[in-house]
Amino acid sequence: MAEQPRIVVVGGGAGGLELVTKLGRKMGKTGAADVVLVDAKPTHIWKPLLHEVATGALDQSLDEVSYPAHARTHGYRYQLGAMTGLDRDARTIRLAPIHDDDGAQVLGERELGYDYLVLAMGSVSNDFGTPGVAEHCYFLDSTRQAESFRRALLNTFLRHSEGGPEDAAKLSIAIVGGGATGVELSAELLSATDMFANYGYSKIDRSQLDIHLIEAAPRVLPALPERIGASVAAELDRLGVAIHVDTKITEADAAGFTTNDGSRIDADLTVWAAGVRGADTLSQLGLTTRPNHQIVVHETLASVDDARIFAIGDCAACPMGENKWVPPRAQSAHQMASTVYKNLRAAMDDKPLKSFKYRDFGSLISLAHFDAVGNLMGGGAGRGLLVEGRLAKLFYVSLYRMHQRAIHGLVKTTLKAVVDGINSVLRPRLKLH
Ligand SMILES: Cc1cc2nc3c(=O)[nH]c(=O)nc-3n(C[C@H](O)[C@H](O)[C@H](O)COP(=O)(O)OP(=O)(O)OC[C@H]3O[C@@H](n4cnc5c(N)ncnc54)[C@H](O)[C@@H]3O)c2cc1C
Repeated sequence: MAEQPRIVVVGGGAGGLELVTKLGRKMGKTGAADVVLVDAKPTHIWKPLLHEVATGALDQSLDEVSYPAHARTHGYRYQLGAMTGLDRDARTIRLAPIHDDDGAQVLGERELGYDYLVLAMGSVSNDFGTPGVAEHCYFLDSTRQAESFRRALLNTFLRHSEGGPEDAAKLSIAIVGGGATGVELSAELLSATDMFANYGYSKIDRSQLDIHLIEAAPRVLPALPERIGASVAAELDRLGVAIHVDTKITEADAAGFTTNDGSRIDADLTVWAAGVRGADTLSQLGLTTRPNHQIVVHETLASVDDARIFAIGDCAACPMGENKWVPPRAQSAHQMASTVYKNLRAAMDDKPLKSFKYRDFGSLISLAHFDAVGNLMGGGAGRGLLVEGRLAKLFYVSLYRMHQRAIHGLVKTTLKAVVDGINSVLRPRLKLH
């Protein structure tokens, strides 16, 4: 191994950026390691905020973190590029060429050497091969996709505001997936509808908007305790969201969805937010993966194939008892980043690695400004403390603040909170351009 080992982290998301920040501060700045972050994009935004970006409730330009600027002050180096290949014998990763908007090549294919590699490449939505979904539905896997939905939303509201009230009455949005993303997006859309009308952007009010939330399981939020699902379903029902449970989509087209019983759910806009899987690239690296393309790791988070390669966050399949895997959540990615930091240090010092123990601190669901609900310190099966309303919203916001604290430190996070407070007075509550 080189005197200064190189640690390459691929993916600067909820897990990867926290890891590389800690590695940079503790090892990069002291010269104990050369720490490199590779990401396919130049900026980071915390993925659980994407449904807010999708409605304009959050202007991503105010919250995104520039990797080159962050790297400079946190003791690591940044390389723009999408990882496409891995050579374990040579210990190199391959990065795809970079092209400009006109398709001209800016940089050719590149290789980057590593002594230790951490894969933190997240996940993408799983359309389970359903015909028409890839062509006709919006996804919320990236800022680009969320922004593309937001533009379509603005245009749809504008289009439906032309003419008389009878034209305005026809707007319908269908969301597949009654998990946290679908539920939170439904509420944000209702809130955005109110604000579009308040700002005079559209004539449509909530009574003229049909939101369909479609879930294959018997209830919304099937991965969360039943009482949270029941509480959220009751609130969405009160707000006028049409919830379709036990409903599988068999096909998507330009006019909406066909369901398993042959009925139609027609919509002006369709969103697919059901299920997650690893990107196809993960299965092409020569590492053991699950059918959903997640990289199989030991409890130490090291790949089952190679002790120098770790995987964290949504792209990792970490065992948690028999036939159970750590769930793909921001809190899992956060906790895994901590364990891998310790295990990288242990591996370099030839010490035994620690096993990762997932701790479920509960789940929080935000229904825009209408309500928030969740359980704290609960684990599954409905144990723990049920929180609702302002208290739940406070805890919900504090999750993002914890991520900001991990990547910016306490002082900058406090300043950012103050700036957010000022911006809430100075700026419009919705991005309308
Ligand atoms: C709308 C929405 C709401 C959510 N709400 C919650 C919530 O309330 N609570 C919760 O716990 N979880 C929530 N989640 C899930 C949570 O966002 C993820 O579990 C978490 O972000 C996973 O972190 P990660 O580090 O594994 O991946 P990510 O945060 O997705 O980061 C992956 C990074 O890898 C980069 N990348 C991908 N492929 C490559 C490549 N080939 N080469 C280089 N870079 C690459 C990407 O650009 C990205 O920066 C939500 C998700 C969504 C979409």
